[in-house]
Amino acid sequence: MAFVNIISNDKLKIIPDRKPNPQTKITYLRISITDRCNLKCFYCRPEDQEFIPREEILSYEDMTRFVKALTKFGLRSVRITGGEPLLRQDLDKFIQMLSNVEGIDDISLTTNGITLKKHAKQLKKAGLKRVNISIDSLKPELFYQITKGNLQDVIDGIIEAKKVGISPIKVNAVVIKGLNEDEAIDFVEFAKQYGVEVRFIEMMPIGQGHIDWKEDMVEPLERVKRKIEDKYGKLKPSSSIGSGAAKVYELDDGTKVGFITPITNPFCDNCSKLRLTVEGNIKLCLRTDEEIPAKDILKNGREEEIQQFIEKVVVAKEISNQNIQFNNYEFGECRRIMTSIGG
Ligand code: SAM
Repeated sequence: MAFVNIISNDKLKIIPDRKPNPQTKITYLRISITDRCNLKCFYCRPEDQEFIPREEILSYEDMTRFVKALTKFGLRSVRITGGEPLLRQDLDKFIQMLSNVEGIDDISLTTNGITLKKHAKQLKKAGLKRVNISIDSLKPELFYQITKGNLQDVIDGIIEAKKVGISPIKVNAVVIKGLNEDEAIDFVEFAKQYGVEVRFIEMMPIGQGHIDWKEDMVEPLERVKRKIEDKYGKLKPSSSIGSGAAKVYELDDGTKVGFITPITNPFCDNCSKLRLTVEGNIKLCLRTDEEIPAKDILKNGREEEIQQFIEKVVVAKEISNQNIQFNNYEFGECRRIMTSIGG
């Protein structure tokens, strides 16, 4: 079999020739199916974003081949993301293809929700279980300022997703200091009103849309949690189906509130997550720019070649996890924009 290389910082590294540890599992995969988006969140997309040519984007068949091979290493959950995944044609067919893979019992979607109203029923029918919807502000003007989109379209999408039985629905809000950190209580009230979970996320130094990330944009979520507890009383630890990145709590009425703290409290130990980029590179972690090109092997490899390749990927993930701990969970340089990685 050909060497499997990791590209990092335009340099090649070779993965050691050994078998993965039998205990290592890859349970969760995020796939970016398009780098196109119908919103322009200022921190996520550069103004002059160059899209990856359509012919370079991985096909649904090749993505499914990867998913199938990973089930031998414990894969159960696949999250479809982007860019805006609802923009890629035949998403329902892809969900159907994933539903047919033995071992995959959790298919989820991360979307901005703008066109969810139109697609929810079809996606549910195809096998979509649950959805995460990004909303950074509940103030229509600020939502527009951040995204150039219409908040009501997203709310209509949530209502429809609920109606067709997609569950749970989680609303994800990236909290940016000086911009939306005063909306914590509004988000909790929104969660109660619409029967959704809300999750707050710290902004990471990735992608860097039209702005450069600065540490003082990060609102430590401990403060957001305190504000919520001041109003509703002590939050009780809870759980939620998902990748395990969020610390989830419950209010007395059962409303769930989660906190994802990649900056102030990293949750990387024993990470069993991989990402597949839009053009078919495997990204080991958001904290490094290490990627393993997989397109050729997924397109042309025989089943056993793909399986051997995946073993190498698992070894690379083991090493990456160790390096991240060794580097004290620092973010390395990640020049790729979020839409092609699959945020
Ligand atoms: N279009 C879909 C959506 O809006 O949910 C999926 C892709 S979008 C890149 C996924 C998520 O990544 C969004 O919730 C967005 O807010 C988040 N995101 C983008 N850049 C980020 C950053 N630097 N730090 C934290 N979250 C980020």
